[in-house]
Amino acid sequence: MINRVRMPELDPNIRNKSFDEVALGFSIEQVKIEASRCLNCVNPRCVKACPVNIDIPKFIQQILSDNFKDAYCTIYQDNILPSVCSRVCPQEKQCEGACVLGIKTESVAIGSLERFIGDYCLENCFYKDEKIEDNNKAVAIVGSGPAGLACAAQIRRYGYQTDVYEALHEFGGVLKYGIPEFRLPKNIVDSEIDRLKKLGVNFYKNVIIGKTLTLDQLIKEYKYDSVFIGSGAGLPSSLGIKGENLNGVYYANEFLTRVNLMKANSFPSYATPVKIKDIVAVVGGGNVAMDAARTAKRLGAKKVYIIYRRDINSLPARLEEIHHAIEEGIEFKLLLNPVEIIGHNYEINKIKCQVMELGEKDQTGRQKPIPTNSFVDIDVDNLIIAIGQSPNPIIKKSTPELLCDNWGRIIVNDYQTSIPGVFAGGDIVTGAATVILAMGAGKSAAIHINKFLRNA
Ligand SMILES: Cc1cc2nc3c(=O)[nH]c(=O)nc-3n(C[C@H](O)[C@H](O)[C@H](O)COP(=O)(O)OP(=O)(O)OC[C@H]3O[C@@H](n4cnc5c(N)ncnc54)[C@H](O)[C@@H]3O)c2cc1C
Repeated sequence: MINRVRMPELDPNIRNKSFDEVALGFSIEQVKIEASRCLNCVNPRCVKACPVNIDIPKFIQQILSDNFKDAYCTIYQDNILPSVCSRVCPQEKQCEGACVLGIKTESVAIGSLERFIGDYCLENCFYKDEKIEDNNKAVAIVGSGPAGLACAAQIRRYGYQTDVYEALHEFGGVLKYGIPEFRLPKNIVDSEIDRLKKLGVNFYKNVIIGKTLTLDQLIKEYKYDSVFIGSGAGLPSSLGIKGENLNGVYYANEFLTRVNLMKANSFPSYATPVKIKDIVAVVGGGNVAMDAARTAKRLGAKKVYIIYRRDINSLPARLEEIHHAIEEGIEFKLLLNPVEIIGHNYEINKIKCQVMELGEKDQTGRQKPIPTNSFVDIDVDNLIIAIGQSPNPIIKKSTPELLCDNWGRIIVNDYQTSIPGVFAGGDIVTGAATVILAMGAGKSAAIHINKFLRNA
């Protein structure tokens, strides 16, 4: 049996000082070897485990017969962002996790194969031309993250005028403002969004629905036949402990947005600064925490700690991110929970943490962290809080009839909200989740919008 081909990567001690992409992609030779490992199963479990059900064995067989463009069309049919998803999906929990090869040896590197095909077709300007028959109805999409983009593509394919309204000055949602350049180059996101523009989707930036325009205006004044809300979960959760307002404490979303979108790493060439000093602690164990820690390291921090209240096996981040963080010199301080942020002259200089131990398993199958009577102080210059995000309440505030649950998530029934003709999907409905789940929701919502409008 041929071993799984490893994707080449930049050296950890070089890449932790640069924002260049870490994973370098497969060559044609590597992609052919890896594709040859696929067993082309009769009942492919990988397809069922992919949230958008890409026909994985089909595109792998197309790679083997050198039909890279056909392989692209196979993927694109179900996933309009192959170069993005191949870089950020937790494949080990989805397609690759279900691959039968993984039972006895190592699963096929499905994500790396998808990335090769996506990038190959971007580099060679191959674009799947789709014939669209326009109808006379229009749909507004709120938010240009993965949910909004997937909904927009599908809605446009049905022939509707499709207009995306984005609050920020760049399109892509978390793909742009959250996930760092070294993991997901921004030109890749732009190129994949450009394909939607070619499909005929219109994009409008700097429009905050709920402030610049209300939902009501979109329907009554702008005469949209339907609206999809994909406004995500961008509101950071706080620790709720003393000292959170000290200088040097950041929320991960703000910190990452400053660097990714405002280019704070190039201050003073760009106007937005970010003050990262020698010792940085990041609280949290998900992808956001890994991204914040690895970004802080690249901004020159000498020591970067991840502080997490469970053990290393319970970290919710993608395996690859944890592995890359360790290689880059990020230190993990586990079974600790911050209880106070201590400062001097309004600047943070210490965090007090309670030592935790693991108890019984909870509903998620992970062991619950239980506080002990021990405490430790850790000297730090910065603290970045990455313990979760919740939906931004802006749309709800301007539209009280839009029903939300206690966590601010929009309540839907078959993707339709409490307002007839207004649909929603992605993180705004589920709370913070993943790119591919948001895309799956956007696409499914489009199917329901189409049904709704055909019957209207
Ligand atoms: C730092 C970070 C790293 C992550 N890493 C991964 C990863 O590796 N893999 C993975 O699968 N998932 C990852 N995730 C999670 C994933 O990115 C999200 O689940 C996904 O982006 C949700 O998509 P969405 O379209 O629902 O929302 P978003 O991506 O948040 O997009 C929502 C968009 O709506 C806009 N918007 C909000 N309110 C309004 C308004 N009122 N009017 C107009 N526009 C509005 C926002 O500006 C934004 O552009 C990460 C998240 C973060 C924060």
